[in-house]
Amino acid sequence: MQKGTINVQTENIFPIIKKFLYSDTEIFVRELVSNAVDASQKLLTLSSVGEVKGEIGDLKVQVILDTDAGTLTIRDNGIGMTEEDVNKYINEVAFSGAEEFLEKYKNKDPKSIIGHFGLGFYSSFMVSDKVQIQTKSFKKGSQAVQWESNGNPEYEITNIDKKERGTDIILFIAEDSKEYLEEARINQVLTKYCKFLPVDVEFGTKKESIDHPKGEKDEEGNVKKESIDVPNIINNTSPAWIKKPVDLKDEDYKSFYNELYPFTEDPLFQIHLNVDYPFNLTGILYFPRLKNQVEVQKNKIQLYSNQVFITDSVENIVPEFLTLLHGVIDSPDIPLNVSRSYLQSDSNVRKISNHITKKVADKLSNMFKNDRADFENKWDDIQVFIQYGMLSDEKFNEKAKDFLLLKSTDDKYFTFEEYKEKIKANQIDKNDRTVILYTHDTDEHHSLINSAKDKGYDVVVLDGPLSSHYIQKAEQDFAVSFARLDADTLDNIISKDEEIPSKLSKDEEEKIKPIFENISEKEKFTIQVESLSETEKPVLITQSEFMRRMKEQQALGGGGMQMMGNLPEMYNLVINANHSFISKILGAKKSEKEKLAKQAFDLALLSQGMLKGKDLSEFVARSYELI
Ligand code: ADP
Repeated sequence: MQKGTINVQTENIFPIIKKFLYSDTEIFVRELVSNAVDASQKLLTLSSVGEVKGEIGDLKVQVILDTDAGTLTIRDNGIGMTEEDVNKYINEVAFSGAEEFLEKYKNKDPKSIIGHFGLGFYSSFMVSDKVQIQTKSFKKGSQAVQWESNGNPEYEITNIDKKERGTDIILFIAEDSKEYLEEARINQVLTKYCKFLPVDVEFGTKKESIDHPKGEKDEEGNVKKESIDVPNIINNTSPAWIKKPVDLKDEDYKSFYNELYPFTEDPLFQIHLNVDYPFNLTGILYFPRLKNQVEVQKNKIQLYSNQVFITDSVENIVPEFLTLLHGVIDSPDIPLNVSRSYLQSDSNVRKISNHITKKVADKLSNMFKNDRADFENKWDDIQVFIQYGMLSDEKFNEKAKDFLLLKSTDDKYFTFEEYKEKIKANQIDKNDRTVILYTHDTDEHHSLINSAKDKGYDVVVLDGPLSSHYIQKAEQDFAVSFARLDADTLDNIISKDEEIPSKLSKDEEEKIKPIFENISEKEKFTIQVESLSETEKPVLITQSEFMRRMKEQQALGGGGMQMMGNLPEMYNLVINANHSFISKILGAKKSEKEKLAKQAFDLALLSQGMLKGKDLSEFVARSYELI
């Protein structure tokens, strides 16, 4: 027996381990299981270079719960350790065996060694009163040893009788960590961190139905089924992202998506990432159908390092707009033991982030070029994502300009350049800028869309949640103006060659105004008399494009506009001087004037979906009276 003190460079590591990682104690499972996987992979490597002779058998990691003894054991049949190894790799805390191994077998298969999350084996003391290592090295004739410590940091090494090659890490679970003696809890943690580890991880047994061993048959002549206990393997050792894209069909991608996010609707399409220079990165990013906020919150991109789950908060690793995607990124080159804020400034992380952005833009661009009809079909589902990307990432914006689409009210899709070309002769404002007319809601604006079409104008639908933000950007990038159909009268939005003379005299204009003032709320509506064409409606409600955008941005919480308090609802009530109904109001009996004006005003509100509640009931009642 040998006694000693664990050689820790920093005073005493144990209180630090306990204190710092208290909120996330479960990661000890990840650390110990990946050490066990490493030990198995190392054995494979040694066997492949002939340093281990003969059969190595099936390699697997077993997680064993013993509630009576109060222990949790992580068992592997990997390389094991000699007493010398234990001294070197366990007692010298700062020395990492993974590092040395990688150094020595650099060109063999270093990718398969996980190692090095920073915390490692000693994380077991977060949840244990005592830890034992029982281990026997693969080396011929090695003596098995047991290392034991309660984290004092004193340890004891004794020779033991262990037949099989490999290592058992036995944790005597502490009183305050009893949760790790519950099967369900262990299952949960294993599923979270170890679901795609490259070596089988076994936890308990499960029932499986098999054919009767003696082939006994039931009444119908079918071989009887028998239920037996089989090892419960919690992981899929070859997940889709580590395979070659040529070996995968669309179905395979879908079923892997389902494995990641059970009970979620199929994704739209995916991008398979595969880089090995200048950094290592594999992964699959899926474009989900962004139906509702809940799915966005729930199904996050998962970050792995050599198939070990690390986190699903990737905010500092991929650009924010890409966090709308689902899927997996696996890179051993993302530093895992540094603070989150540091990640952003890490040059590797920046390269990775740029690379992913580029891949996503290229994929979209190829889809657009290769099958435009299909791309158009997907547009409604992906527009939020593309607009978000264009708003937040200038490089993405540059590329996306070529495949950003505008959808017209008759469901035709145009690129920006195509659309500008289509409307440039007909839709110009007073400053000679091309004007894109748009609606946010084809139902609400049905009558406005018809008016615009009657005048030979085209209207696009911009109904995504980010559209109003995106418009601002597109105006700068493409040198156009956007005007919502209700932003002003069409005659004011689009410049016309000749002015329409007004049918009303100055005197009549002065008379009509107060009539409408009396029937509308002063604080909300500004009355204007305009000389519009006779076919235009008698009364129109407009809201300045500028004011509306301010309000929308305030609602989305952007641009420091919280300071300004709530912006008031303000509209223009535009009276068309040339409509016969306005002349009719002027000519009506004194008692009738306001009633007619109110009716015209309500009709204007109604046709823009703005007449509601009490006002709507009164309108209906008044209409019957008038007929
Ligand atoms: P890291 O895995 O980052 O090297 P750890 O503290 O987790 O750090 O482990 C230290 C070393 O102990 C490992 O590199 C390895 O050499 C050895 N070791 C740990 N667990 C096992 C195991 N199950 N089988 C063989 N060696 C192990």
